[in-house]
Amino acid sequence: MSSEHQSFQAEVRQLLDIVIHSLYTDREIFTRELVSNASDALEKLKLIQLTENNVYQGETELQISLTTDEEARTLTIADTGIGMTREELVQNLGTIAHSGTKAFLQNLQEKGSQAGGMIGQFGVGFYSVFMVADRVDVYTHSWRADAPSFKWSSDGCEGYDIEELDQADRGAKIVIHLKEEFAEYAKASRIQDLLTKYSNFVAFPILLNGERVNKVEALWLKSKNEVSEQEYEDFYRFTAKAWDKPRFTMHFTADAPLDIHALLFVPEENQERFGFGAMQPGVALYCKRVLIDAQPEGLLPEWLRFVRGVIDSADLPLNISRESMQDSALVKKLGQVVTRRLLKFLEKKASEEVEAYRAFYQGFSRFIKEGIVSSHEHRDALAGLLRFESSMTEGDAHSSFDDYIARMKSEQKEIYYLAGTSREVMESGPYLEAFKARGLEVAYFTEGVDEFVFESLTEFQGRKLVRADQAGIELEDTAMDGESMSEADVSALQSWWQDSMSASVKEVKTGKRLVGSPVVALVPEDAPNAQMRAMMKAMGQESPEIKPVLEINPRHALVKKLASLRESNPEVAGLVAQQLVDQAMLAAGLVEHPQQLATRMNEILEKVL
Ligand code: ADP
Repeated sequence: MSSEHQSFQAEVRQLLDIVIHSLYTDREIFTRELVSNASDALEKLKLIQLTENNVYQGETELQISLTTDEEARTLTIADTGIGMTREELVQNLGTIAHSGTKAFLQNLQEKGSQAGGMIGQFGVGFYSVFMVADRVDVYTHSWRADAPSFKWSSDGCEGYDIEELDQADRGAKIVIHLKEEFAEYAKASRIQDLLTKYSNFVAFPILLNGERVNKVEALWLKSKNEVSEQEYEDFYRFTAKAWDKPRFTMHFTADAPLDIHALLFVPEENQERFGFGAMQPGVALYCKRVLIDAQPEGLLPEWLRFVRGVIDSADLPLNISRESMQDSALVKKLGQVVTRRLLKFLEKKASEEVEAYRAFYQGFSRFIKEGIVSSHEHRDALAGLLRFESSMTEGDAHSSFDDYIARMKSEQKEIYYLAGTSREVMESGPYLEAFKARGLEVAYFTEGVDEFVFESLTEFQGRKLVRADQAGIELEDTAMDGESMSEADVSALQSWWQDSMSASVKEVKTGKRLVGSPVVALVPEDAPNAQMRAMMKAMGQESPEIKPVLEINPRHALVKKLASLRESNPEVAGLVAQQLVDQAMLAAGLVEHPQQLATRMNEILEKVL
């Protein structure tokens, strides 16, 4: 029968070019990629068998057979899975659908061979075969009984040929014509080793030249003491298509309120930090060992997309479809129970393995913060997982809100925090002194997203979280150095200041905050602070101009002098008062045109000298 030639999509050609010419390491991974594709195809068939009755039989045994032929220099990998129709061949082996592919290709080009291990994670696994092959033939018959059979053939360069066949077995048979220098992959012993290394957990029998090589077992259904560390590690690599080790492994079983067998992993690396775009959900859903969905969208909350592994529940109806899964109350419940367990697990890590948790936090704190913003029901548990430095921690030691509460003075009711660009900036600012003088701790948050986090997180275990640079905080009296002006003088100064500066200041008041500074600008409770404004600006939004609440220190020499200057030289006093406001605004990070300050300073100097 005649064959039809088609060109690869441009992205595929680009990818193939990189795969063939730049990735020299780990060529052997192609076996894992193809065996895992075969396994996926069998899992899909198993599910289809439950719901469809017109399944093409062909060979019925669900298995993967590998055949080596040293003489012909070929390796053949055949499965009895769902196979492909013509459209599917074109779609699956001629284009790349994955949305992260562009970013992936760019990264691959920049990082070269280091990125080799990422191949499997981006849905481009099949093409890795062209690292070792100079031609690949795929013989396939779809599970659809009325579909014809096809042969797909390519040298991995510009395009491929598709030809209709009289007959092929159900599934896919991939014949790999090896390049001369990779003849080793036509040796049974080499393939045997690779299967042991990469494909031990495939849930279907694997045969090599007719002999069974793997035992099929669902690790997650075993009890913890029957599973070795090495097995967990191997299973993680298998199920996550990963190359690193799991950072944390959580294996648990429950029978109430739902039957659950879960084996979950936190990876070593947070891929999103390397610019690969948002991760896809990675916890597969099984019902009694039957894969329902390898990447279920609605099972775990979005912010847990970094978790890998398997959840198996015998309570799920086997024939649940992916569409109905999304809104199944049972699946929601399952997700909730597992999420709660995971949070408990992380809490335990945090208290028992401080260093390991810290390393995790460094890479993955983003997800915790995302969870706080988006998952109301888990907010308190997630907030308990936050870590920070504070005015009472030394060096880079980390604290939690629980630590903070344990250190709190008995009369303290609220938790104070500051959000800024760095510890140094916050410590040199004017806000801390009032809290320090009273022995009150202030937690420091330094990530850009923190502002958003505290928009959602307003309390922790019933205690209000209060920004230390905010107006309206009630602080206890404290013994302060220096004598204050008389009350009458203070109130006269205050109203003069207020009146002459009503355009730029919301309110002038004396307060208990200041120890060593003359004035401080406080952000009104309802206004966005500096960090938030910077963010609005970055997003191209106009942020409203801020009129601060100005707190003055009636014990400070400068303030006292200003009070008398107001009578002797109102003009200069007015300039000085404005200058103090602007300096306070500058310290608060709220000044947009600092050059005005210099101009006015010159004016004052000119008048005084
Ligand atoms: P991924 O498996 O990550 O999606 P691949 O490039 O390895 O990416 O495969 C692309 C697609 O080709 C698969 O998603 C699948 O639909 C199809 N495919 C690959 N191998 C087989 C196979 N043995 N049987 C049926 N379909 C397959």
